[in-house]
Amino acid sequence: MILDYLKGLNSSQRQAVEQTEGPVMIVAGAGSGKTRVITYRVAHLIQKGVDPFQILVLTFTNKAAKEMRDRITKVVGPEAKNIWMGTFHSIFAKILRVEANKLGYPSNFTIYDTDDSKSLIKAILKEMNLDDKLYNPNFVYGRISMAKNNLISAAEYQNNEQIQADDFSTGRGQLGKVYATYTARCFKAGAMDFDDLLFKTNVLLKDHPDVLYKYQHKFKYLMVDEYQDTNFSQYLIVKKLAAVTYNLCVVGDDAQSIYGFRGANIQNILNFQKDYPDVKVFKLEQNYRSTQNIVNVANSIIKNNANQLEKNVFSDNDEGDKIKITRSYSDNEEGKSVAESILQERSIKSLDWNDFAVLYRTNAQSRSMEEALRKANIPYKIYGGMSFYQRKEIKDLIAYFRLTFNNNDEEAFKRVINYPARGIGKTTIDKMILAADQNGKTLFDIATNAFQFLDNRAATAVNNFATTIQSFAAIAKNNNAFEAASHIAQHSGLLKDLYEDKSVEGLARYENIQELLNGIKEFSEREDIEDRGLSVFMEDVALLTNDDNQKPEDKDTVSLMTIHSSKGLEFNQVYVVGLEENLFPSQMSLNSRADLEEERRLFYVAVTRAEKKLHISYATSRFKFGTLVNSEPSRFLDEIDPRYLEIELPKKAFSSNPSSFDGERSAWKSKTSEAPASTDVFSKPKPASQKVKTTSLLSKAHVPTPGFKPEDTSNLQVGEIVEHERFGFGKVINLEGNKPDIKATIFFKEIGQKQLLLKFAKLRIV
Ligand code: ATP
Ligand code: MG
Repeated sequence: MILDYLKGLNSSQRQAVEQTEGPVMIVAGAGSGKTRVITYRVAHLIQKGVDPFQILVLTFTNKAAKEMRDRITKVVGPEAKNIWMGTFHSIFAKILRVEANKLGYPSNFTIYDTDDSKSLIKAILKEMNLDDKLYNPNFVYGRISMAKNNLISAAEYQNNEQIQADDFSTGRGQLGKVYATYTARCFKAGAMDFDDLLFKTNVLLKDHPDVLYKYQHKFKYLMVDEYQDTNFSQYLIVKKLAAVTYNLCVVGDDAQSIYGFRGANIQNILNFQKDYPDVKVFKLEQNYRSTQNIVNVANSIIKNNANQLEKNVFSDNDEGDKIKITRSYSDNEEGKSVAESILQERSIKSLDWNDFAVLYRTNAQSRSMEEALRKANIPYKIYGGMSFYQRKEIKDLIAYFRLTFNNNDEEAFKRVINYPARGIGKTTIDKMILAADQNGKTLFDIATNAFQFLDNRAATAVNNFATTIQSFAAIAKNNNAFEAASHIAQHSGLLKDLYEDKSVEGLARYENIQELLNGIKEFSEREDIEDRGLSVFMEDVALLTNDDNQKPEDKDTVSLMTIHSSKGLEFNQVYVVGLEENLFPSQMSLNSRADLEEERRLFYVAVTRAEKKLHISYATSRFKFGTLVNSEPSRFLDEIDPRYLEIELPKKAFSSNPSSFDGERSAWKSKTSEAPASTDVFSKPKPASQKVKTTSLLSKAHVPTPGFKPEDTSNLQVGEIVEHERFGFGKVINLEGNKPDIKATIFFKEIGQKQLLLKFAKLRIV
């Protein structure tokens, strides 16, 4: 058995797997088997007789943890379920539940998601009379998050001269106070936010040596995947826990560090050797994931970064298809071309939908992709963005669950106190908030003693609400998750409210609740866990992040996700879309070299997700905040060695009808500042030695000739050449209809055929 599974490793991977004792580090390029080494290492440890309960594996996403556990199960059997494996947040939330009392928290503390945190920040800003433009809640949240990830408490924040000087210089001198109030309010509500899960773990390990001792001796073997993206808070937890056994194995790739904006510090990987001088370092150089072309392209991109560890990565796989670059004239066209390409590749290569992923820089880009896939009847699933658990109706029901287990949960309380409507108005709620503040009580305390603080009518309504919630707690205690959840959905009035809403949206919301209840039912029927109560189900839900799968089922679908969420994953066919300046690299990154390098690493991550074929696309115009703006091809395209590229123009490109335009081409050339995308350049890429500058190949959006002015074209004739403000030069092929509604069919050189209503078209006759 042992020999069997070790056969699936090359010699350096195998050495790393067998080096189970002492500190080990593997820094290696994408697809070289780092994650595979961790997986096999765990299996190997268990085969050697190590108790799975003593193994701690920290991964970046829940999905990665699940995949790893499934694979280990194949080698070692059901014992694999006892390994402590998961994201930093999920593992330490689990530990914090056990130890919460030591920090003054209840063990059923709530985990505030980002929305809860921001809503609380907004409430605090309002109470403090601070301008929420200057103190933008997103910004404030980011500041607090960054402080926590650097282990700066609210008190330290307020006492730090440098930080105070910085805040005052931007006119935000009250930030420290907001942070302190936010912390106090979370504590009072029995809630921790995402960053607290790490921050409080650090506090726990620092202030409670007995707890530290316990976990240092519990976890005999520690492993961390994607170590390059750990922040200081995570780094310190790992360091402390490993400080007795030193059996710590970290794997990562500095070229894939993409969470600097969230406080991740690439130095953690670079300093590992300083922290552990006797570390054994293993190099992995062979990429098993991708074709040679893909690996070469990835290498040619990342070598533009000055700050990186020298690595040699090669692939022994087939050379593979060239990387396809597609230009479209709008984001919608880009979506269409991706959909068409997916249909084509799937049928030619007999692939599943699962084999395809579309990756983008920002969540907003998913809209045009979704639309195109939907029209083409391609099943897809969006990871991140608006996940199932972020929908209003789901959050509402979950807020009831939260409040049931933690009456002090302020955000949940405010969310559902008057939903469904029970006549409790804003004035009443404001009165309650004030009373809670003045009496050092929680909102729920006020609700249970409502007659002391409110008039009779309001007090009755509020008091009934509190009693209902208390009755839910009793039900939840004595029933399984599904029974409790159904009871709460009904008796809160939520199900009835949604049922009575007969609009299409109302129906969809009702169905979503049903779907959540189905998921809970499945949970209640699980045989591998002892406690199937609703509170246990809630622990998992609270930790679902944007990067995770949204719905329980795992169908055969195309995956849509941001590049950030794609880390560690692989797909047969990958589409990286929106390679445009100010989008990718993002506008925010253009101010500093370090930020630009992080964007480039992000591109490297995207490219290295592909196994067999990589498609890259960009559009020459795109809707941004409701208006169509021109966009230029990304500078990153220039950096790819053109040897590995195949470039495709929009479908009905000029080249498809060259004879009719030959005469005009030279005229066109002289009128545009940009050299034309000559057809023969595309069919015969120049050899690498000549190093063609790619920008000229990837011709930019049309720049109107100087002094361009649209004119009256109601007398336009077939055969005339026109210039359009955005579409460039074209030839009139057909005219139909009567003045003033004449419709012209024009064949544009850049974008192909288009129909335009002349009275609106911005044209001039050349
Ligand atoms: P990333 O940096 O993207 O996280 P990684 O270094 O973690 O990549 P893995 O995901 O572990 O790489 O491996 C990439 C692919 O190569 C996987 O499909 C893995 O199963 C396969 N692979 C790795 N090593 C070998 C090997 N020795 N033989 C066969 N396949 C391998
Ligand atoms: Mg990996």
